[in-house]
Formats: sequence, structure tokens, C-alpha cells
Amino acid sequence: MSREEVEEWGWRQHELARSLANRLGEDSSTSSRPPSSDDPYRRGEREKKPAAVGPGGDETSAAAPEKTGDPAEKKASRPAGKRPGAKGFWRSQPIVTSAEIAHAPTVCAACGAVLGLDLKRRCVGAHNSLELVRGDMSLQVTATKHVYFAVRCPCGHDNVARPGVGLRSDIEGRRRNLQMSERCLVGPMLATFIAALSLRFRLSRSKIQEFLHDWLGLELGTATIERCIHEFGLASEPVVEQLIEDVRAAEIVHVDETPWYQKGDLRWMWVLVTATTTVFHIGSRRKEELTALIGEAFLGWLITDGYAAYRDHPRRQRCLAHLIRKGLALAEGYYGAGSGFGRDLVRDLRRLIERIHDGEGDDMPAVKRLMARIKWNCQCNRDEFEKKVRELAGEILNDWDAVVAFVGDPDLPPTNNEAERALRHAVIARRISFGTRTDEGSRFYAAALSVIDTCRRRGVETWGYVGSLIAAARASLPPPAIQTRAAA
Ligand SMILES: [Zn+2]
Repeated sequence: MSREEVEEWGWRQHELARSLANRLGEDSSTSSRPPSSDDPYRRGEREKKPAAVGPGGDETSAAAPEKTGDPAEKKASRPAGKRPGAKGFWRSQPIVTSAEIAHAPTVCAACGAVLGLDLKRRCVGAHNSLELVRGDMSLQVTATKHVYFAVRCPCGHDNVARPGVGLRSDIEGRRRNLQMSERCLVGPMLATFIAALSLRFRLSRSKIQEFLHDWLGLELGTATIERCIHEFGLASEPVVEQLIEDVRAAEIVHVDETPWYQKGDLRWMWVLVTATTTVFHIGSRRKEELTALIGEAFLGWLITDGYAAYRDHPRRQRCLAHLIRKGLALAEGYYGAGSGFGRDLVRDLRRLIERIHDGEGDDMPAVKRLMARIKWNCQCNRDEFEKKVRELAGEILNDWDAVVAFVGDPDLPPTNNEAERALRHAVIARRISFGTRTDEGSRFYAAALSVIDTCRRRGVETWGYVGSLIAAARASLPPPAIQTRAAA
């Protein structure tokens, strides 16, 4: 090469390295990437950084901070909810009731005598209730007036019918706590519908308000809408306790976790999936969270990725899809001999999955050869110069029993797709809503999602079930069980 060519080549290499290094340092605050693509662990650091100065050192351009939509950005400002003294929300629509339901005591609580219709009734209270009626291919909202009566028994006891009072969620310092009650403007099925629009269809509170107004002619405040969503969560909590028991008794449990934000702080959403049950949980990423969910005495198989919290469990299948993706990254990257290792690994792992799927066990010579080759390839590359190659080889060798557990047990799925699929919905919701705001909100969200997903897995008509669940929780009745359609 001539001197000019060497200089030209050197200059091009320098430019390439510079542009790659620059791209590596980019995040949502320095490029057009969305905030969701940022490293979850670095969000906190970024906010503490002083405002970035423009490329030309022009401070005025940075003076007007751009709205990044980051959840923590609003943290310093006012708390959520209405300001004290702000104008309230009143219904301007009159409610036209189409029916009246009388609630009167039928048996004396003191002496057990039947209270006949001949006894004099005294009206003690009434409230209106809006309810959603689902017909074949129709939705209708009806308004009903509920009237409550008191009846004096001949024995002298005054029997009073009252709306049922149900579950309650208290938080210290909160002005108005959540108390479920039958005395509620929104009936159980309409509350379910509103909660479904939020939890399943991921609409914001104000979008739901708009939808109800535009399509059903209903005027409800966002606080009422919020209440419906929270009632679903609160009613779901006792059901989730039972679902956790079901998971603990399962033979195979898929586990995965994904970042979650609560008021801008990093949390983790865990999911446990069995053949018939899904349980979500929002908390830290520590191992204790998992132990609290599956219990100390869990004897079944865990299907997991490589996260360290799972390593102690003796019966474990490592998700091969993760390893195949890592192998593909090596095969497609510039790793010299390491790229060949990645290609071989991907080919061999896929073949192993196919052979086991086709019913060949670990006693077949072809399967034995395949396993020996994967192991040998990893052993050859565990001291490789390239860090990523070395790490993948070491990862497979260190976790060898979990990588090939499915070879000896054909019932074990070799990938964790079930859990990843279960988390998809929440991941999309996180991108839309930036997560939850309070501990209570996180608990309710995870519980409601667990109930919805379990209903779907068990073939139960989800919203009918949830309607009966909310109705039971408002009246302090035990929650109905989610029975698989075959058993019902
Ligand atoms: Zn009596």
C-alpha cells in the first residue's frame, strides 16, 4: 500500500470506530430512540445528570427541556389526583330507572319467625345502580333503583335490610379508602366491563371515559372508573392465593421476569405459568420473591432462563431458545472462530430439540453423539479470546444438567415460550402506561392479570366470571372458583 492508501485506510477505520462508539452511547435523551429502549438500570442515573448541552455548546437550545415522557420526570411535581379545592365532577345526566328492586328482610334475626308481606314495611334507603346487560350480540346499560326496607317483627325486633358491605383496602394517610359495597352506582358487570377496557384493552382512564360517553351515553367520572379497576384487583386477591397453591402443586412451572416501573422506580414483574394457571407478581428481582411465590417445598420442574435466582432449584430446564439466540448473535457477528462455534451450537441445539420431539430418548446413539458434540464444542471454546464466546461456552457447561434435562424427560418443554408469551401483554401495557403508581396499584394489577390469564387458560368465560367475583366481594361472600370448563 502507498502512504496515501494507508492514511486513507487508517482514517476510515477511525471514522468507523468513532461512529460505532457514538452509537453505543446513545439513549433516549441523546437520540430519537424511545425511552422504552433505555437500559432499565440506568434510568435513575440519567435523571440526575444536568441538562445536556447542545452539540455546539449552545446552552439556549437546551434551556427548554424536551418532554421525554419518562415517568420519573413528573415525580418531583404534584401527586396524582385532584388538587384540594378543585372543581368536582357531577353527573349532568339524569338517571332514568327502568326497574325497581325491593330488598326487605324475610326472617327475623332475633326469633327466626318468617316476616310475611302483611307486616308493615318502612323504607330506610335507596340507591340507583347502572348495570351492563350482555345479550346475544348486544350490550345495554340499564338503570335500576334498589330500595331497602325495615320490618318490625311481632316479637319487637326491628329487622333492617341493608346493602352488603365487602372487602376493604386501607392505606395509612389516605383520605378515602377503598370499601367494596353493594351500594354502588356501577353494577358488578359494568364495573367488569370498565376494568376490562383498562386491563385487557389497555385504555387509559380518560379514554375509557370518552368511550363510555360516546358509545353508551354514560357519564362517569375518572374516579369512578378508577374505582372499578381497583375493585377488580381487590376482589382478585383471595383468588390469587388459591392460584399460588395450584402453582405450588404443579409438575411443570414456567418462570420469567421483566422490568416494571412503579412511580418511575424499577420493579420486576414475575410470571409463573403452569398448564392451567398463571400468576403475576410485582416486586424486587431478588430470589426471595420467587421463593415466596413457589414456596420452599416446591418439588416440580422449573423452566427458566439463565437468571441466577433460579440456579439453586434442583429440577430445572434451561430455556434453549435463549441459548439459540445467543448462538445466533455469535454466528452473525464478527467473532472469528467464535462465529463458527455459534453456528454449530445453533444447529446442534435445534437438532437435539427435533430429535427429542420426534420421540428419541437419551439412550439413542444419535442423541448421545449430539450431546457429546455440544459439550465438546463448549469445552473447546471456554477459554476463547472473545469474551462473548467464552461466556456462552462457560454458561452452557456450568448449567449442563439444566440445558439437557428435557432429553431424559420428554414431557419437559425445552423453551420458556409460555412464560414469555404471558409477559407480552404486560410489556406492551408498560410501554403505554409507564407502569403503576403505588404498591396497592401494583398488587391489584398483578392479581387482576392473574385472574384474567387463568380464566383464559382454563377456558372459562372471563368476564362473566369476573362479574360474579366482584358481586361476591361486594357482599362479603367467598370468591367463586375458576373451574376448568371440562370439570364444570
Ligand atoms: Zn322476631
